[in-house]
Amino acid sequence: MKNRKKLYEGKAKILYHGPEPDTLIQYFKDDATAFNNKKRAQIPGKGVLNNFISELIMTRLKEVNIATHFLKRLNMREQLIKKLDIIPIEVVVRNIATGSLVKRLGIKEGKVLPRPIIEFYLKNDKLDDPIISEEHIIVFEWASPSELEEIISLSSRVNDFLTGYFFSLNIRLVDFKLEFGRYWKNDEVRIILADEISPDNCRLWDLKTNKKLDKDRFRQDLGEVDKAYKEVAYRLGVLSESEFKKVIKNDI
Ligand code: ADP
Ligand code: UDP
Repeated sequence: MKNRKKLYEGKAKILYHGPEPDTLIQYFKDDATAFNNKKRAQIPGKGVLNNFISELIMTRLKEVNIATHFLKRLNMREQLIKKLDIIPIEVVVRNIATGSLVKRLGIKEGKVLPRPIIEFYLKNDKLDDPIISEEHIIVFEWASPSELEEIISLSSRVNDFLTGYFFSLNIRLVDFKLEFGRYWKNDEVRIILADEISPDNCRLWDLKTNKKLDKDRFRQDLGEVDKAYKEVAYRLGVLSESEFKKVIKNDI
């Protein structure tokens, strides 16, 4: 690692100051965590795969006019991003019932939802990221009504686009988590998609077999976590097997 000033180290990524005041460098680690950091492991190569997968998805979203923080990939584990004022909300979009929805409400696992559901969680590890309503967001001023409207509209567009994109790769987009931030330019503020989109924060099931190709393999001790992430990367066409082997041998 070069001489970079660390701004923040999270569970899966590190943020460094970027070359310009409004940029950051996002470094993808191999650390995997689940159940709010109670379960931890290293998955060799995960950071590289997520860096490439997130680059590809953010690039495709930009092509359909969804503004993202992604500027460019710098190397195997790092990307240059716009520095945002992160809105402290995790937006979860669900197409199929699983995970906490099934546990909380007793809905049948695997039920295809009649329409996508958008949920909000407060980004607060100490409180275990509690589920919140739109009312909480407005009353406690985590986002303004117009920002919330924009967040919902963008989340829905991301879901529509990615559902079709993954479907073309024989993958079912079951659910996923998004984060957004504010970006100021010439006194105007825009809501922009932040963080990452990867098998760490999406549930992806093989269309034919329903095999899980995401972090649930780690959460549920299903094994072959790295193989599942690689499978997603190959289907997206972002990393060849030989490139990936090179990465693992000469890691940066
Ligand atoms: P966590 O903070 O939950 O442990 P990560 O390890 O993924 O998660 O850390 C990445 C952090 O960077 C997150 O807190 C996320 O909100 C923040 N982040 C993502 N994109 C940006 C951005 N463009 N500008 C500022 N912060 C960002
Ligand atoms: N998710 C995430 N980070 C979180 C919580 C959830 O990326 O802190 C993602 C998770 O990978 C899944 C979706 O959001 O794709 C819905 O997760 P759920 O609420 O079912 O939570 P879990 O079962 O992980 O507790």
